[in-house]
Amino acid sequence: MRIGVFICQCGTNIAATVDTEKVVAAAQSMRDVAHAETLQYTCSDPGQRAIIEAVQAKGLTRVVIAACSPRMHEATFRRTVSRGGMNPYMMDMVNIREHCSWIHSDMDVATDKAVDLMRMGVARVRGQAPLSSSTVPVTGRVLVIGGGIAGIQAALDIADSGLPVTLVERGPSIGGNMARLDKTFPTLDCSSCILTPRMVEANQHENISLMVNSEVDQVRGYIGNFEVDIRKRATCVSEDKCTGCMLCMEKCPNRAPDEFNADVSLSRAISIPFPQAVPMVATIRKEYCRQFIKGKCGICKKVCPAGAIDYEQEERVVTERFGAIVVATGYELFDWREAYPDYGGGQYPDVVTSLQYERMLSASGPTGGQVKRPSDNEEPKNIVFISCVGSRDESVGRPFCCSVGCMYTAKQAILTKEHIPDSQSYVFYIDIRAGGKGYEEFTRRAQREFGAIYLRGRVGKVYPKGGKLMVMGTDTLSSEPVEIEADLVVLATGFAASKGAAGLARKLNISYDQYEFMSESHPKLRPVETNTGGIFLAGACQGPKDIPDSVAQASAAAAKVIGLLSKGELETNPMVAAVDQRRCTGCFKCRDVCPYSAIEAVELWDGSEVASVIDSLCQGCGVCNVACPPAVISLKGYTDKQLLAETMELLR
Ligand SMILES: Cc1cc2nc3c(=O)[nH]c(=O)nc-3n(C[C@H](O)[C@H](O)[C@H](O)COP(=O)(O)OP(=O)(O)OC[C@H]3O[C@@H](n4cnc5c(N)ncnc54)[C@H](O)[C@@H]3O)c2cc1C
Ligand code: SF4
Ligand code: SF4
Repeated sequence: MRIGVFICQCGTNIAATVDTEKVVAAAQSMRDVAHAETLQYTCSDPGQRAIIEAVQAKGLTRVVIAACSPRMHEATFRRTVSRGGMNPYMMDMVNIREHCSWIHSDMDVATDKAVDLMRMGVARVRGQAPLSSSTVPVTGRVLVIGGGIAGIQAALDIADSGLPVTLVERGPSIGGNMARLDKTFPTLDCSSCILTPRMVEANQHENISLMVNSEVDQVRGYIGNFEVDIRKRATCVSEDKCTGCMLCMEKCPNRAPDEFNADVSLSRAISIPFPQAVPMVATIRKEYCRQFIKGKCGICKKVCPAGAIDYEQEERVVTERFGAIVVATGYELFDWREAYPDYGGGQYPDVVTSLQYERMLSASGPTGGQVKRPSDNEEPKNIVFISCVGSRDESVGRPFCCSVGCMYTAKQAILTKEHIPDSQSYVFYIDIRAGGKGYEEFTRRAQREFGAIYLRGRVGKVYPKGGKLMVMGTDTLSSEPVEIEADLVVLATGFAASKGAAGLARKLNISYDQYEFMSESHPKLRPVETNTGGIFLAGACQGPKDIPDSVAQASAAAAKVIGLLSKGELETNPMVAAVDQRRCTGCFKCRDVCPYSAIEAVELWDGSEVASVIDSLCQGCGVCNVACPPAVISLKGYTDKQLLAETMELLR
């Protein structure tokens, strides 16, 4: 056995805190170590060439690389040793950057720890056996979850490459939050005008099947071969027959909340959410429908000229196979009411959210684009915008920036002046975040051209007085208290993850953060991948984003999917679990805990059943190893023997 040890300096990232020569000296004194050296940048071309040369010149059979996180470069170095002629799985990495140099300031402490980690790595590779991967065929179909602009863009890009896509949307129409916007910053083009053609294109694309009123129920399988149950709600209207004439909606006697218009108005028990909806099909919400509440009505059925109403319609679950999944479930606004009692907590009708204000500004909105105070339908003249409500506010547990609030507030101030020329907008802000192309200029235009008065500071209180709203704050630039008599107050409400995001993430086996936004695999290098192979992220489901960033991320996710599925087959990870069937007692505790359903029962010659790992499903998570009472399952590359050797080396 001839082990090579390579210690990376990572420029000064490691070398400034870890004495790499000392680590090399420690390696040289170890049994089986035939070569040890320090390299300035191991991942660079010269660094990789040095490894290949050493492997070949010294006849190395195993390699330990002490550098950064394996999440960053494990695949890189497996390829490197493979180019040198070694089995790629005979290489192991230890992390002396994130685990040593980046977290310790004392050089002796960091160096001692780096030596320990290196010694443990050497002990582990001693027990390593060569592994080889096999290939599995992939399903050339893609599931996109969420039909906002990100999901639509991802679906179109993937479909254009020739792959069939199923686009699943929870609501009755695709379009997401962008469909609710009036105009978009910084160019002020009409949101519907740029979005509607994309929605129609997605609906008409020969490679896209649209499933609205649908949600993912269960997900089984693995990268390249997912099996997904999709639950389609009963809408009591036949999609094939409904022509979208809206006659039913006109005649329906029962009112219902109007989610699309952010409850600025009321809708009906049967409705089409907006005139450009795709598909243009009505939906009955049973909880508001007289036919279901009282057992009699039937008006929509009587008036529908297409015979599309079907009160007996039942929900159905369809099961389909996909090679990859794009999650694009977007965001919703943070529910500010409980967190901000000082702004009325939702009790004052003339304190509205930014999304409600978008609907008031929109020509296709419930007020036909006329801004009116909800309390008395009067046109407001003094409008106060309060930034960062539920963003950058640790006191309500929302420390992060919504990234679009400053921009859409500037946009709404501009549009307010266009709608009501004799109005005056006031914007309370913490600081202005306008990092995108043309964004800074846009916020300046709001002030210089459209006369919006920007006041730096937080608003302490909003309270009603004589038909107006008194807004009390402090201008922190002048240190003067400010009091404004407002007709309307608009809250730039922060982003929250879409309802049920955590539950969906658990079904998909992907991670999410403390605010339930989906987590990317690496914030810089793998921003659209998740930690589960074959599942990608697009848009605001991963964190607050504007439209250009959502679209860019969607196209990036689509490119990853196309790259993945273009191969036709995938290499499997050989570091999977294996059962010693001679010693298996057949209790199947492993099968109970396996999150990938990768363990099956097989019958032995004497009729007894034992566990067997389905290599193509196993993701090498190791959960079964821990659950097995007689400890007869082990993970290739992480056998008990290897882990014990590693631990013993540490304790020496
Ligand atoms: C008031 C306001 C004004 C804005 N103005 C601008 C602007 O002018 N310019 C700009 O660039 N950005 C603007 N934005 C930001 C913009 O809305 C977002 O960037 C954009 O909507 C993000 O798109 P998305 O597809 O990621 O998410 P979304 O638009 O939220 O779409 C997500 C979709 O997924 C669906 N969904 C959710 N969960 C599920 C599930 N489990 N299963 C199936 N479907 C699901 C939802 O129903 C929705 O249709 C504004 C935001 C606000 C709040
Ligand atoms: S259900 Fe019938 S009445 Fe209602 S929109 Fe569709 S076709 Fe028109
Ligand atoms: S947990 Fe262990 S003993 Fe039980 S079935 Fe699985 S492999 Fe066999």
